[in-house]
This record gives sequence, structure tokens and C-alpha cells, in this order.
Amino acid sequence: MHMKIKIKNLGFYYNDHPVLENISMEIAKNTITAVTGPSGQGKSTLLMTLNRLWESIEGARVDGQIEICFNGKFQNIYDPKYRVSDLRRRVGMVFQMPNPLPMSIYKNILFPLKLKGENKKKDAPFRVEAALKRAFLWEEVKDRLNEDARALSGGQQQRLCIARALILNPEVLLLDEPTSSLDDNSCNMIESLLLEVKKSCTILLVSHYLDQVKRIADTGMRLSRGQMTQEW
Ligand code: ADP
Repeated sequence: MHMKIKIKNLGFYYNDHPVLENISMEIAKNTITAVTGPSGQGKSTLLMTLNRLWESIEGARVDGQIEICFNGKFQNIYDPKYRVSDLRRRVGMVFQMPNPLPMSIYKNILFPLKLKGENKKKDAPFRVEAALKRAFLWEEVKDRLNEDARALSGGQQQRLCIARALILNPEVLLLDEPTSSLDDNSCNMIESLLLEVKKSCTILLVSHYLDQVKRIADTGMRLSRGQMTQEW
């Protein structure tokens, strides 16, 4: 089995208050790993160490090492020479509350391409369509792409956010409680689409829905008191 992520002796501190201590784990390519456990134990923090999202928080500090395999070579993501913009392009993230931008459905999905200066390229509409299809949303929105994304239902908004994360074809997708604000039907759709997405992506999912993660996750890790234990 090919490994995608290697975490070695990871520690994380807010102003010297330890949240994660000495965590080591390896995550195989094209799998779904669920991180469960009580709240306030550092699950979201762990996700943020993987795309360096915590770096703007004053007083926060990480130690240890995280390597992710890009183009067949393990990259230390905290190497000062490695650009955070390259990392974020390869490691996408979806949050607990859907966060559509105040613009049309189409422009929401296009937004990451715009940031990269690729929104005017000929293939942009096809990339938007492909991302919406991967997020199981295309059929519902193909005739209303110019409508404000905030008019979509909660479940549709979350799939829109997943499509927006997928348009850059990330190699790793981080999801922090992506279904906790959604109804059962929306949860089921997200479970099914994640099983498809993992064929081309390595997924880390924080969730407190044990039944759900047991259905879809290849590996289940429990985080409690700064320590990680493998549950399955
Ligand atoms: P979980 O995802 O398991 O609920 P979090 O990663 O959100 O846990 O939080 C872990 C711990 O870090 C908690 O004790 C929380 O209060 C603390 N924490 C989170 N964000 C900050 C912050 N910006 N500043 C200080 N402490 C924080």
C-alpha cells in the first residue's frame, strides 16, 4: 500500500498549552481516514496542521514533522522553502458550516481558478462542470448556474463547497464535520460522493457520527487527551 501522509512526533500548542502531543501516524493513499473523539480534543487542530491553516493564529506553534507525497516524493510541508500556496492547492479543505461566497453558483466554483489566473482559460466551464459532477450537484444546478449560491439548500451549499474544493484536483481533502448541520438525505449523498472522490484523492474526515464514519472510513482514529489511537 502506498503511503500519502507521514506524521512524525507532531505536537501543537496554543501559547504553550499543548493540544496535540507526540502524534505519529501514516495515512495510505486513496483511503478515507476518520478522526473521532470528544470535542475540544484537537481534531480540527490536527486538520489545520495539514494545510498550515493555523499559522495566522498568534501564539500557536507546531513541532514534529509532516510529510506528504507529491509527484512520488515526500515533501516536508513545513520546509521554509515550500510555498504554502502550493500546499493549499494540493490539500483542499471543507468546513463544518457551508461557506458559499456571495456570488453565483458558477462563480463560486470558478473562484479557485480565478485566484490562480486560470478562470479565462477555454476549459474553465468544463472544469466547473466536472467539479459539480464529482460533488453530485450538477443535475440540480445545471440550469441555474447564474443564481446566487446562497439560495441553495444547506445540503446543496455543502456539496457546492466540496465542488469548489475539488476544482483544483487536490491530492488530499480535509473535511471538518462536513455533515453535522445537514439532514439524513444530504449526509447520505456526501457519504456516497466521498467514496467516489477517494478513488483519486486521500481523505481525512473529522466527524462525531460514528455510524457514518464506520460505513465509509477505511481507518478510524480516536483523538483524546492529545493522544491518537487506532480504532479500526
Ligand atoms: P476539536 O476539533 O476536537 O473539538 P479543537 O482542535 O477545535 O478541538 O480545539 C482543541 C483545543 O484547542 C481546545 O481546548 C480549544 O479550546 C483550543 N483552541 C482552539 N482554537 C484555539 C485558539 N485560536 N486559541 C487558543 N486555543 C484554541
